Amino acid sequence: MQLEVIQIPAGPLETNAFVVIDAATSQALIFDAPPESVALIEGEVMARKASPVALIIAHGHWDHIQDTSAVRDRYEIPVMMHDLDRERLESPGERDFPAATPDRILTEGDTVELAEHRFEVFHTPGHSPGQISLYHAESQSLFGGDTLFPNGYGRVDIPGASESETLATMAKLLEFPDEVTVYTGHGASTTIGQERGWIERVVSSGKLL
Ligand SMILES: [Zn+2]
Ligand SMILES: [Zn+2]
Repeated sequence: MQLEVIQIPAGPLETNAFVVIDAATSQALIFDAPPESVALIEGEVMARKASPVALIIAHGHWDHIQDTSAVRDRYEIPVMMHDLDRERLESPGERDFPAATPDRILTEGDTVELAEHRFEVFHTPGHSPGQISLYHAESQSLFGGDTLFPNGYGRVDIPGASESETLATMAKLLEFPDEVTVYTGHGASTTIGQERGWIERVVSSGKLL
């Protein structure tokens, strides 16, 4: 059965949350919880009479996690993320938003289920140490947060980012088919095929752009 993907930009950086709905059961996965996103997510979920089953945090930067506890409390669903970014959620620091604790830690090779659908977890660090991307092979969809954008990768000039890990992650992305749609953390989605040219150049040179 088909999946419906709803993109919901929210907050000062227009960070994308996604609601992904299984048409057969109306069960839904929510990806990321940006600032001021909970009401927008609720609107889309209500309009489709969907039932969220989990909130997945693709990486722990504040602009992707600020409404985590609000979304979890609204739907009483488990929060899932990689261990290396959990501290950003558990200790927001100077960013003043409610802390939360992940209910399930995701690592490379894990699977998240949505009804009959399976999303495979890939660890794609670089922009953030605990960044993950979830792949749904049947629809050739990759939910990568700030891993990949049209014509570029997530910023590496910020604390916790790593150029060498970004290079390794770019090499990993080349293993996906050209047809794969990559849903990004900000702005438009892209495909592996559209980005393959510059990614290959970066990987073969061993240097970021
Ligand atoms: Zn980020
Ligand atoms: Zn971001």
